Amino acid sequence: MSIVKEVLSGKLMIMINDIIIAIDGHSGCGKSTTAKKVAEYLNYSYLDSGAMYRSVTLYLYRNEIHYEELNNIVKALENINISFKYVDGEQNTFLNEENVEREIRSEKISDLVSKYSSIPEIRKFLVHRQKELGKDKKIVVEGRDITTVVFPNAEIKVFMTANIEIRAKRRFEDMKRNHPEITFSDVMKNLEERDVKDSTRKDSPLLLTEDAITIDTSDLEIEDQVKKIIDIIEAKFS
Ligand code: C5P
Repeated sequence: MSIVKEVLSGKLMIMINDIIIAIDGHSGCGKSTTAKKVAEYLNYSYLDSGAMYRSVTLYLYRNEIHYEELNNIVKALENINISFKYVDGEQNTFLNEENVEREIRSEKISDLVSKYSSIPEIRKFLVHRQKELGKDKKIVVEGRDITTVVFPNAEIKVFMTANIEIRAKRRFEDMKRNHPEITFSDVMKNLEERDVKDSTRKDSPLLLTEDAITIDTSDLEIEDQVKKIIDIIEAKFS
């Protein structure tokens, strides 16, 4: 495998064979923004698996299906179709053809998502769809079980983390724009709860695998994080 650097439309890009870049990590450490930029740099697609868990949560919440109603959840999954489309240059999440990008990031959904994402039937449903979306490779995928369950054979595996106060601050700054009612302590509490739930659930908890490279983003800007991942790719394939 080899890589070639080229300037295309004024941008430096890396031409690389078809690989999968899997990124796992805690909420709020810059995974999504970094993954999006890495994908852009490589001319790859980008998959936000958290958006899929959020969309399923939104559907079940709207239909008043509680996380303990397993039979109803399984039936409801048949009616859920999640896709991604570009709107004004940004990738947006669609639930049954409705743009839910903003709603899935609300405090309500952030509070509920870890309860639904611990349900094996929901995980199986989404993992199947994620594998399908990544079957042609050329993709950067981020989430909690991407390096372990969805793409355990990914060519590049990264684990991102950061100090919780810094993560809460970043997430708060991010959310304030679209959700002005939110407070810093709401965000902090939500991150703490999700860290525990996501790392201790029975089915596919967030884990650091031996072959993943850890990036602590506490003191890094997004551009540094992108560069670190590009450096990892270059080191592996040059
Ligand atoms: O990445 P994001 O914070 O949007 O993810 C929302 C939630 O979705 C996580 O807290 C976790 O409960 C769930 N999730 C998951 N597995 C993934 C991605 C997200 O369980 N691969």
